[in-house]
Parts: sequence; structure tokens; C-alpha cells
Amino acid sequence: MCIIVTGGAGFIGSHLVERLLEDGHEVVAIDSLWTGSTKNVKKFEENKNFRFIEHDVRHSLPNITGVTAIYHLACPASPDHFEESPIEILETCFVGTKNMLDFAVGCGARILIASTSEIYGDPKVIPQSENYWGNTNSFGPRSCYDEGKRITEALAYGYQRKHSLKVRIARIFNAYGPGMQLNDGRAVPNFIVAAMKGQPLTIYGDGSATRCFQFVTDCVAGLNALMNSEYSRPVNIGSDVETKVGEIAEMIVELVANKVGSATRAPVNHLPARQDDPYRRKPDIGLAKDVLEWKPVVNLREGLDVTVNWFLEKEQKSNGT
Ligand code: NAD
Repeated sequence: MCIIVTGGAGFIGSHLVERLLEDGHEVVAIDSLWTGSTKNVKKFEENKNFRFIEHDVRHSLPNITGVTAIYHLACPASPDHFEESPIEILETCFVGTKNMLDFAVGCGARILIASTSEIYGDPKVIPQSENYWGNTNSFGPRSCYDEGKRITEALAYGYQRKHSLKVRIARIFNAYGPGMQLNDGRAVPNFIVAAMKGQPLTIYGDGSATRCFQFVTDCVAGLNALMNSEYSRPVNIGSDVETKVGEIAEMIVELVANKVGSATRAPVNHLPARQDDPYRRKPDIGLAKDVLEWKPVVNLREGLDVTVNWFLEKEQKSNGT
């Protein structure tokens, strides 16, 4: 089976490529390297089943034969990018996804699209099940992403209706783990990098907002299970263990302090909450448990430990120590 992974040089995409290669598939990673890096796919270079194509999905795809499945992950996912590049993100969500859907129709492949918890906006319903329609702001600073991913879902179901395309929609909730960029802009890497430098950790808001963080290998297992299922409506893929952002920051500071053998605790710098950033976010994952027989298995402390180790190793390598 030849499988395409768009966004394959990104954080989740590169873990997914690794899993698919381990399972014996031929994998083509397509990525424009906008927010990803060839460093994430360097370890697959020698694998004869792996191919990397540098390409922006906003443009029509080159000819690739024998494709049976497409994981479409290409899209920036950090709030820093939402503010910098709203139009390019909307184009990626609409034009990029349309190109991938057309490609899937052309080769008769099934396609899984990475949607997001952000389509629920700042939710009025806790936990969010797939039946909740959300509370989004169409003109706020995050709207390019929230609305972009909503149009992505609408587009995919348009293709399903019109072309009988096999569509899978994964609504991914916060994922973290090795392979995130140092300057990614999302909470976990931001906290780890600041703690490693002994600098203040920046928390937007008073730290009482919550997130449910899933380790990246759990997320990849969920995507894989959804792709291989016959379920075609959206499915939440996330952890349902809710933790305050302030507690995650404390956990990271403690882990880093223990590992670098320093008693110094990085202080916390509170900035105003980002506009339209959801206060509470927690998925109902009952559907994933039922239809995919999937649930996350890595607990937060265990996953953060692995992630902090990876960031520390990366720093040591770049310092040549
Ligand atoms: P990432 O930024 O690490 O990966 C995205 C990849 O897509 C990058 O390698 C980037 O270069 C590539 N890309 C972006 N725009 C592109 C374009 N126009 N053409 C080709 N390549 C392009 O982010 P990630 O965390 O790995 O997210 C992957 C997907 O999962 C995204 O679609 C994101 O919306 C979704 N998602 C992620 C999370 C999370 O917590 N990580 C949560 C919800 C949804």
C-alpha cells in the first residue's frame, strides 16, 4: 500500500510516517516545510519505502501512482502562525484540502483529514462530543484556523456526498511530544524551552484554563485506527484527562529542574489570556472508544518526561556537548 502523509515533516506527521513505515507500508511524505523540518524525516532517508516530496498543497500535486490512502495533515497548528499568516492558513485549509480531495477522487484513495478541537471554539458544553456544533468567532485572531478547519470538514463531506469518497475526520485535541519545534509557540514546547533556559514561563491568563494533553504516539494510534475503520463521521481523538495549564507548567519546571540537577525554579510570567482562546477544553472520547476501540494510554507525567528528555538531548547536540 502506498500512503501519502501531507505535513509528513511536521510534528504529528513525522510520528505517523514512522508508524506507517514500521507497519510495512510505502510512504510518501509531502510537506512545504513551512512549520515542519527535514530534520523530522532524516531518520527515514535510508528506508527504501520512504519518499519525501517538498511541495505546497495549495498547488496541484505531482503524479504519484498506486496511492490507496491519504492522511492530510498539512496545516500550521500554532497560535503564533494564526496571527502571522491568516490568509495563507485559510488557503491551506480550503485550496490545499480541495487539491488533496481531488487527488483522492482521482486515484480512488480513502482520505483522513486532520481537523481539530478548535472547531468547537470556546465551548459552552463540557465535555465536547462530536454532536456539539461549537461556539466560534468568525472574525477573531484565531478564526483563520477555527473556521478554516470547519470549512475543511464541510468540503470533505461535500466530496463524500458528490463523489462517494471515503472520508475520515479526526478532531485532534492538544497533542505533545518529541519532534515539536523549539520555537513552535504552543504551551508544552514554550514551557520546556523556558524552563531549560531558567527563564520565566509565560502563561496566558491566570493558569486556571484547562487542556487535555495527549502524547503523540496515542494520537497517531487514534488516526491509524480511524483510517482503518469504516466510520465516516467526525471522531474526537484526544485525552479526556483535564489539567490546568498552571499545573502543566509546574510539572515541566519540576521535571526540568530534576534532570539538569538544578534547584532553580523558573518563575512564571502571566500575560492576559489570548483572545478567543478556549477556557476549558475537554473531549468526550466515548465515540472513539466505541467505534475505534481506541483510547490514550500514556499518562501526562510519563509523556512529559519523555518529551523533556528529547528537548534536553536536542539542546546538548546543538551545543556539541
Ligand atoms: P506542525 O506544524 O508540526 O505540522 C504541520 C506540517 O504541515 C508542517 O510540517 C508544515 O510544514 C506542513 N504544512 C503546512 N502548510 C502546508 C502547505 N500549505 N503545504 C504543505 N505542507 C504544509 O503541526 P502538527 O501539530 O503536527 O499538526 C498536524 C495537523 O494536525 C495539522 O493539520 C493540525 O491542524 C492538526 N492538529 C494538531 C494538533 C496538535 O495538538 N498538534 C491539534 C489539533 C489538530
